[in-house]
Amino acid sequence: YSKKNGRNGYSFYFDELQTDSQRVLLLDSELRRAIDERAFELYFQPKIEMENEQIQGLEALVRWNNERLGFVSPAEFIPYAEETGLIIPLSEIIIEMACEAVIKLQQFGIKIPISINISSIHFKQRNFLESVQAILERYNTPANNFEIEVTERTVMNSATETVSKLVRLKQLGFKLSIDDFGTGYSSLSYLVRFPLDCLKIDRSFIQHISSLDEKQAVVDAIIQMSHRLKMKVVAEGVEQAQQVDILRKMNCDIIQGYYYCKPLPLHELLEFIEFWEIEHQGRK
Ligand code: C2E
Ligand code: MG
Ligand code: MG
Ligand code: MG
Repeated sequence: YSKKNGRNGYSFYFDELQTDSQRVLLLDSELRRAIDERAFELYFQPKIEMENEQIQGLEALVRWNNERLGFVSPAEFIPYAEETGLIIPLSEIIIEMACEAVIKLQQFGIKIPISINISSIHFKQRNFLESVQAILERYNTPANNFEIEVTERTVMNSATETVSKLVRLKQLGFKLSIDDFGTGYSSLSYLVRFPLDCLKIDRSFIQHISSLDEKQAVVDAIIQMSHRLKMKVVAEGVEQAQQVDILRKMNCDIIQGYYYCKPLPLHELLEFIEFWEIEHQGRK
């Protein structure tokens, strides 16, 4: 039953409301429990450098499979965790898991930086830097093993504080990326003030790039601007060979998307990296 199925009789609507609020209650209690039990997993999606076809980075994406709720998308539970403040302990768990993954990869002789998505709520905490540093120190993993992805929205408000935080992160050795670029109405002049390594063009611009001239024009302009500002460009959500061709012609630096690889759990990622390195031997 959904609202779309008919004119909403009052009781029908009420039923739906009830199931919605029941779900939120369940989500709340299960999420708190999952945080206590660290019941999350990280998946990793490779980013491919166009110039040499090497794996340039691995984006960590949190996964939560709950006994009662089933698989819950981060697009659902991350915003909820942000509303309730649960994002702070969750974000710390994610950073810890990313440290564990770096260590594991190193045991296999793999030294590819891992990108961590950082919520604006965590980023804006006064002690954000100290909290991240403390975790890295505990795991004895230097910051240059990591990239931090913050969305355009995160960096665009309270600019002066943001600049100093980004500068300090950079000094610690983190690489910095702007995520979902193009969705946040940012003033481009701000970008110049940030010490950014990469700009990730949002999937919505990549989706119809092979058929829509306007999308091509925007993506082309973003790539040229980024290069002038000495940033590399990542295209997100690339699914088709045609999109890869167009992006390559536009000198897009890095491609990420199902076309190359879905997000994978660590053991499958190790297999993918091995396969990829054999396929692309000698092209370094
Ligand atoms: P995002 O950081 O922009 O991540 C990219 C999303 O696009 C991921 O969805 C990824 O699985 C998906 N994706 C990658 N390639 C393709 C493709 O070719 N086609 C399509 N249709 N999708 C693709 P996911 O994992 O569901 O995450 C959604 C969002 O949830 C992320 O967007 C990010 O904002 C948030 N998120 C995920 N993991 C974390 C995390 O560990 N911490 C925080 N703070 N947020 C996270
Ligand atoms: Mg991201
Ligand atoms: Mg993104
Ligand atoms: Mg996105």
